[in-house]
Amino acid sequence: MTASHYTKVLKQIGHKPGKVKVWEKHNTPKQRVGDAKRCRRCGRRKAHVSKYGLHLCRQCFREIALELGFKKYG
Ligand SMILES: [Zn+2]
Repeated sequence: MTASHYTKVLKQIGHKPGKVKVWEKHNTPKQRVGDAKRCRRCGRRKAHVSKYGLHLCRQCFREIALELGFKKYG
C-alpha cells in the first residue's frame, strides 16, 4: 500500500475511531531532531564532520580541505 501522505489512508479506514487510533500510532512519521547536524556549506545531513568545529559534510570537506590547511598524506 502506498500513499503520498499518511493521512490520506484515513479516508479508506473511514470513521472508525479505534482503527484510526491504531493507524496513527503505527504510521505517523517520527519527529526528527531538527537540523542540529547539517553541513554549513551545502546543507547535507549525512557524513557530517564536526571535528575541530568544521561542521561540513565529507564531500565539502574533501573539496575545501586544502584551503583550510589540511594536508593529504600518503
Ligand atoms: Zn556539504
